[in-house]
Amino acid sequence: MRLRGPRLGVGLLLAGAVGLAACTPAPPEPAARESTPPSSGPRQFTAGAPGVGDDYFPRYGNAGYDVTRYTVKIRYDPARDRLTGTTTVQATATADLSSFNLDLAGLTVRKVTVDGAPARHARTGDELVVTPAAGLPSGNGFSAEVDYEGEPAPLRNEALGSGGFRATSDGAVALGQPESASTWFPVNDHPSDKATYEFEITVPEGLTAVSNGVPVGRSTRAGWTTWKWAERSPMASYLSTVAIGEFRVTQGEHKGRPVFSAVTTKVPQGAADASIARTVEVADYLEGVFGPYPFGAYGGVVVSEPGIGYALETQSRPVYAASFFQRGENTGVVAHELAHQWFGNSVTLTRWRDIWLNEGMATYAEWLWEEHRGGRTAQQSFDAEYLGASEQLWRVAPGKPGPENLFSSSVYRRGAMTVHALRTTVGDRAFFEIVRAWGADRRDGNATTADFVAFAERVAGRQLDALFDAWLHGTERPERPAPR
Ligand SMILES: [Zn+2]
Repeated sequence: MRLRGPRLGVGLLLAGAVGLAACTPAPPEPAARESTPPSSGPRQFTAGAPGVGDDYFPRYGNAGYDVTRYTVKIRYDPARDRLTGTTTVQATATADLSSFNLDLAGLTVRKVTVDGAPARHARTGDELVVTPAAGLPSGNGFSAEVDYEGEPAPLRNEALGSGGFRATSDGAVALGQPESASTWFPVNDHPSDKATYEFEITVPEGLTAVSNGVPVGRSTRAGWTTWKWAERSPMASYLSTVAIGEFRVTQGEHKGRPVFSAVTTKVPQGAADASIARTVEVADYLEGVFGPYPFGAYGGVVVSEPGIGYALETQSRPVYAASFFQRGENTGVVAHELAHQWFGNSVTLTRWRDIWLNEGMATYAEWLWEEHRGGRTAQQSFDAEYLGASEQLWRVAPGKPGPENLFSSSVYRRGAMTVHALRTTVGDRAFFEIVRAWGADRRDGNATTADFVAFAERVAGRQLDALFDAWLHGTERPERPAPR
């Protein structure tokens, strides 16, 4: 995610960010037991917990199963702000489950089946509790189908803003970090459970519906057009998106992959279109630094909505607020969101506390891109940040910012300085080997800060804990790193 404005401050962040937490965090209930039935006696089936136990957002996601694939079919009627959906969740039980939860905010559930058989369902706030006719044994796959409808609405959080499905003057946009997906489909809404996705979005004929991944077909019947999309690489739920409305669409192909971009017709053709058109050029530059582009499609979406003052790295097709381009072409923000395709999307955080892994590297990629274009060098960007940072920036530790400071300036700027401090300490050769090998080693997976530190130490062949402790966890300005 990137907030608007050349230099982010906490105030700006609070005003402009859209992320959201659904509810007041509450301690998670104990997770359902991990399988392994006793050698004698019947299996004990227990309820799956309503949270994965993220220490910042304990109720996000659910425990007891692992989703492999979502098939999300929605019809949205902008005239009535009405969404009708059928979502199929294919998953594997990781505990003996008598029931399990999905996250679904608002909307009314009409019917749930599990493996084709009717299942009981109940709502507790934003939790949908599904009780199948028979228990689900650990290790077994199952498929849950949920029919639902209603007027979708974004989730709101006082500290982080709002995220999710919102009606617009010409359609709708679903977007947000750290939460959004549960406002338009039932989901295990935590980045630790990645899955593949298929989307079928049906909208009035004449409107565009753009989502993640590869466009796989479009058909029109009786005044309604269904747009089909497939994201075949595992994706975290917060990276899902749909934008419905009137767009200038450009399509093409690059390195054998489809390119699909869409710019809202609410802004005149110009800098936004020109910036998004440079997506593949920026992606190719980053590929030279970070290794092969990790996904099967390229693109970008530009929206102009009062509640969206940021850009988000939605998988394979970032969404940008039009305001990023109001003063002319801006490829810095494109570099930031594309860098997330490697750092955040392909290698995804396991818990929200480690958000600096995403934002530090994406901000550093902006510095590298600027140097590549003949502007300030990365060293000059570091120097300017290091010397110019406020006391407040040093007080917020990017390695443990707290849920309310998830998108604070420190996570981005001090996060990027941390990356540069690593580079200065281990030298260019080891540094670029670390970032390339990390993307290859962890592709389509999840990781924590501790994983990254251990990996960097292994590649560099030296201890780095003192460096990371000072830069990620200290609350004073660290020593300037001495060049190797
Ligand atoms: Zn970002």
